[in-house]
Amino acid sequence: AVEEKKGEYLEGKIEVKGGKGNANIGYFINKKLHVWCRLSNGMWGSGTIQSTSGEESIVSLSNGNVIKVSTSQLLPANPGILEAVNDLIQLSYLNEPSVLHNLKRRYSHDMIYSKAGPVLIAVNPFKDVQIYGKDFVTSYREKATDSPHVFAIADNAYNEMMNDGLNQSIIISGETGAGKTETAKFAMQYLASLGGGYGGKECKILQTHCILEAFGNAKTSRNDSSSRFGKLIDIHFTALGKISGANIQTFLLEKSRVVQLAAGERSYHIFYQLCAGAPPALRERLNLKMANEYNYLVQSDCLVINGVDDGQKFQKLKEAFDIVQICKEEQEQVFAMLAAVLWLGNISFQVIDKENHVEALADEALTSVATLIGCAPHELMQAISTHRIQVGKDSIAKKLTLQQAIDTRDALAKFIYASLFDWLVEQINNSLEAGKKHIGRSISIIDIYGFESLKKNSFEQFCINYANERLQQHFNRHLFKLEQEEYDLEGIDWTKVVFEDNQECLDLFEKKPLGILSLLEEESNAPNSTDFTLANKLKQHLNSNSYFKGDRGRAFGVLHFAGEVLYDTNGFLDKNRDPLSSEVVQLLSSCDSQLPQLFVKKMFNQPLQSVTSLDTPMQSVALQFKGQLFKLMHQLESTRSHFICCIKPNSKQLPGTYEEDLVLQQLRCYGIFEVIRISRSGYPTRMTHQAFTERYGFLLSEPIESQDPLSISVALLKQFNVLPQMYQIGYTKLFLRTGQISALEDRRKQV
Ligand code: ATP
Ligand code: MG
Repeated sequence: AVEEKKGEYLEGKIEVKGGKGNANIGYFINKKLHVWCRLSNGMWGSGTIQSTSGEESIVSLSNGNVIKVSTSQLLPANPGILEAVNDLIQLSYLNEPSVLHNLKRRYSHDMIYSKAGPVLIAVNPFKDVQIYGKDFVTSYREKATDSPHVFAIADNAYNEMMNDGLNQSIIISGETGAGKTETAKFAMQYLASLGGGYGGKECKILQTHCILEAFGNAKTSRNDSSSRFGKLIDIHFTALGKISGANIQTFLLEKSRVVQLAAGERSYHIFYQLCAGAPPALRERLNLKMANEYNYLVQSDCLVINGVDDGQKFQKLKEAFDIVQICKEEQEQVFAMLAAVLWLGNISFQVIDKENHVEALADEALTSVATLIGCAPHELMQAISTHRIQVGKDSIAKKLTLQQAIDTRDALAKFIYASLFDWLVEQINNSLEAGKKHIGRSISIIDIYGFESLKKNSFEQFCINYANERLQQHFNRHLFKLEQEEYDLEGIDWTKVVFEDNQECLDLFEKKPLGILSLLEEESNAPNSTDFTLANKLKQHLNSNSYFKGDRGRAFGVLHFAGEVLYDTNGFLDKNRDPLSSEVVQLLSSCDSQLPQLFVKKMFNQPLQSVTSLDTPMQSVALQFKGQLFKLMHQLESTRSHFICCIKPNSKQLPGTYEEDLVLQQLRCYGIFEVIRISRSGYPTRMTHQAFTERYGFLLSEPIESQDPLSISVALLKQFNVLPQMYQIGYTKLFLRTGQISALEDRRKQV
């Protein structure tokens, strides 16, 4: 097999001389064929070439204008018959404007789903499109339609699980606001309706969205309900294909949001829902105020979301709690923890000496928190205003400075919230599994935060992008590597397509001892380290790595598969250590309330951790995350993966608005052109000779001598005049090019 250089995607450039395999310009002029050209506003316009002279062409645009453009910039457009095709691999000319135009045409007719070979592309409609009702479930179930849909992907996964007995995964990617969570919900809705009637377990599973969303989603500047955690939902099925249970795993909740908000953004929905929706008796028991009285919530000047009734959502949440069997007492405890977090933000400190040491004020905020978590106010005051240090054999209490005290208070708030989130997920899992050990098959749905490149990127983006880098590798390997391996294994002669593997970028993160994660760990454990020393250390060891870019001051850059991102190490060490002072740990473990005690216990029971000192009892955040990711990847590798790529058509969350450049950037970022190119160049349909003869063997008009499946396959292909370039015969499987199988199916139906 010949190695083909990873070419440009702009295949079929129109050539002046008409090079091999390329479209000849004279041909385009004669036949008045359509071409694409870049307009001065940066958009693509279509038109026909009127004439060319030298390097320039005169193009008459569809809108009536006539322009002069450089001939080398012209790209062939597809014939009208290929307008808005279902699957982008059907396009005769694969180039960026053709793909963009195809998706746009479909989008303008509310056809938000398209295929790019094996990948489903979902363009966010930002409005209700009526394509998810029971009638749609039925038509996909009965295969009455083949138009691309998330239901079709879920149906495929379900069938493959049932037929091949293989666990499946549906991996949903896309940037924030692209529609991952909504898509995941639709996939689950479909599986729930297949895996058993309505009511019962399936219904419970669907209710978990409401709880997870309330506690894990928040309004950001780019999405009114952005998931601030990653999630994997495993749906378990019995051998008969009925849902038997489910399990949810979450990744890296953005804790910092509890105490710190960017302008125009909100904290987690649940806080506003509680403040708006709690009935009077509950308000009194929790000493609950309205949202605008809590410092943590008012800081960003954004308390409501247009068109959202938080009070009503609170009622829905309570119903969901009831359905997943979180009892009333537990619900009350959950609300108490939330109120405690809110009141913590209102605790203030007064300076008591010249060295800026402080003490917490004994006011309503302090007493409220103390009551809610079940401790004495002076104990709480002590825990957030002092730090015990060891002097010889004695320990003495040292007062904290203002900043230290605020950090300690905020760390307590973050700890309570994040622990509460984990605890809730555990309760939900208990309720979904009902104590049963799962043995059957499963479909996993993954909705994990997409790649982020903001103006300012911090530790959170660093972790998120690392996760995406790992997922991208799974995507690449699954789609490309396995594909090539299969051709090799089957002895198929096939031009190898070189695809970009991101292993080197992953190495930059993971190499020991000189990868970013190891160096971060080392610096997190070093005394007197700062964000500056971290940045210097990274530059010192990694500057020669071509995926790393040292930058000025505290910054460093990483060349991700999706583009370069500049990270600011400001706060990296602290966020990675995520410290909780021993005073706070002790306070919580001596509280009267059940949950705070439980949270501390959980923290110390974390697997893989070595408790060296009470100040850093947990494994660092980055390492813990890496461990989770490895586990996830391991799990995914044993499944058959299905990919859905969500695209955000505009950044204003508006229906009917399709910004070409924004879409293009996302298609490039997720390697969609690469997927189309490879799918087209290969043989996407493959069947074992056995399966092929079982399905079509009866169509043979004349009996043949040999009865082995391979010979029957060959005879069938001959009989139906399938052109030799349209198939390849492997040792065990038959490989067909796009479109061939549907022709055979038509014949089969005619019989
Ligand atoms: P994040 O990474 O921030 O969590 P996301 O990719 O999960 O973002 P969603 O929250 O699923 O994005 O979608 C954003 C919004 O887009 C939804 O609140 C909804 O209004 C709209 N939306 C997404 N998909 C659909 C759809 N299929 N039909 C109608 N509206 C949709
Ligand atoms: Mg989401």
